[in-house]
Amino acid sequence: MKRTLGQIAEMLEIELPNPAFSDVVVEGASINTRTLKKGNLFIPFKGEKVDGHQYVPQAVENGASAVFWQEGAASPPENVPHLIVKDPELALQRLAYVYRRQAAFKVVAITGSNGKTTTKDMVAGVLSAAFSVQKTEGNFNNQLGLPLTLLNVKDDTEISILEMGMSGFRQIAFLTELAAPDIAVITNIGESHLQDLGSREGIAQAKFEITEGLAEEGILFYYGDEPLLQSLVEKASGFKTGSYGYSETNGLYPKNIEMSEKGSRIFLTADTDHYIDVPVLGKHNVLNALAAIRVALHLGMDEKTIAGGFASMELTSMRMERVEGAKGETIINDAYNASPTSMKAAIEFAEELKTEGRKILLLGDMLELGEDEEAFHREIGRGLLPEKIDYVLTFGERAQWIADEAAERFPKGRVRSFGLDKPELISILSGLTAKGDLIVVKGSRGMQLEEVVQAMN
Ligand code: ATP
Ligand code: MG
Repeated sequence: MKRTLGQIAEMLEIELPNPAFSDVVVEGASINTRTLKKGNLFIPFKGEKVDGHQYVPQAVENGASAVFWQEGAASPPENVPHLIVKDPELALQRLAYVYRRQAAFKVVAITGSNGKTTTKDMVAGVLSAAFSVQKTEGNFNNQLGLPLTLLNVKDDTEISILEMGMSGFRQIAFLTELAAPDIAVITNIGESHLQDLGSREGIAQAKFEITEGLAEEGILFYYGDEPLLQSLVEKASGFKTGSYGYSETNGLYPKNIEMSEKGSRIFLTADTDHYIDVPVLGKHNVLNALAAIRVALHLGMDEKTIAGGFASMELTSMRMERVEGAKGETIINDAYNASPTSMKAAIEFAEELKTEGRKILLLGDMLELGEDEEAFHREIGRGLLPEKIDYVLTFGERAQWIADEAAERFPKGRVRSFGLDKPELISILSGLTAKGDLIVVKGSRGMQLEEVVQAMN
C-alpha cells in the first residue's frame, strides 16, 4: 500500500491533526520497530505491560514515515506525521479493509487445521512462476497479522496469499470479511482447538466460515476426502467449489504417486511422461501440493509452469525439514507443532520410507487437546507397529501415554520415555543412533523438540 497520510485519513474517515502532514507518503505498515521498513506506517498498541507509544521515536529513527497515535495516549509527537485513532487495532483492520477494496490484486486465503503455512508457501511458490505474488510472512495469520500482510501488498503485486488461523468460532468469518478472497482453500479438519469448538463438526463449521467473505465469482477449493467438508459443501450455495484429494471422486486427484526421500512425484494423468515433482517429504504434503496445483490451474497456469514453480520454492522451516545428523543419520524435523492428525501423518511417513538403517520416532506431547487428551495420545501409541518402527522415544508427561501403549507390543528396551529430562533424552538418543538411521521428531511447539535436533547435528 502506497498512500499519502491525507489519503489514509480519508480511508479511515478521520481528520488530519495537521494539514502539513497531508502529502507525507506512507508505504506499508508495521507494529514492530525491529522489523519495520523505511516508509512504513508504525502502529503502536497499548499492551498490559508495554505501551507501544513509547517506541514511536525508535520507529521514526528506523524509517517510519508516519504513525498512528491512540486518542488519549499522552501527548502526540507534534513533529512526527501522525493520525489520531480511537483504537489502533480497529484502525489497522479498517485501513486494510478499505485498501483491499481499492486495489486490484487478487487474494487466495487458506485455512484448515493442519497444513495452512505449508500450503500457503506452496501456493506462493507455484504461483510465483507466473505472477507477482506476496504472502503471509511465517505464521502471521490472525486479526493483526492478516491486515498487516494486506497493507504490505506492493503496487505490482497481482496475488496476495493469506493464511487464516483461528481458535474459536467467528474468527475466520472476521478475517474473510476483511480479505474478501477470490479463492479460498480448506486444507483439512483435524482435532486442534477441539477444546474451544466442541467437536470435529464444530471445527469444520468454523473453517467453513471462510466462504462467508468470498469475493464475487469466488471459489472454494477443499480437501474432498473429508466427509465433514463434503457435507458442508453439499448444503452450501452461492459460490463455486472444487475438491482435491486422493479419491477418484475429487475434481483433482493423482493417478499415481511415487515417493522417494527427496519428496513426491505426482502423476495427474495416465501419461507417465508428465509429472510434477514436489520437493517436500510426507504424504500429507501431496495433499498440500494438490491444493496448490488446483489453485494454479484455476488461475490458468499450465502443468509445465506449475512443475517449474515447485522446483524453485522455499518452505518455512521445521515442517518435515530434512536435517543430516552428525553421524550421517537422516533426521526429519517436524517439531513445529503437533496434533493427532499431523502426528499420524509423520508416523506414516516414517513407516513408508525405505531406509538403510533403523527407524526411530521421537514423539513429544500434543498440547491443547482438551479433556480427551489421554485418549488421543493412547490411540497414537496403539497405532505404532513394531514391524515398521524400531524405537519409540517419548518426551513429556502426555507422550508417556503413547509409550505406555507401545510398550505393550514392542520388544523390551525399544520404547523409552523421558519425562521432561531433555539432556538425558539427547544423551540416550545420541548413543543409540548410527549412520543410515531415520529419526522422525514430532511434538507440539511448546515441547521445543528442535533443541534435540540441534544437538544431533
Ligand atoms: P498452525 O496452526 O500452527 O499455523 P498450520 O496449519 O500452518 O499450523 P503447517 O505449519 O503447514 O500447519 O504444518 C504443521 C504440521 O501439520 C506439519 O508439520 C505436518 O505434520 C502437518 N500437516 C501439514 N499438512 C497437513 C495435511 N494436509 N494434513 C494433515 N497434516 C498436515
Ligand atoms: Mg501456520
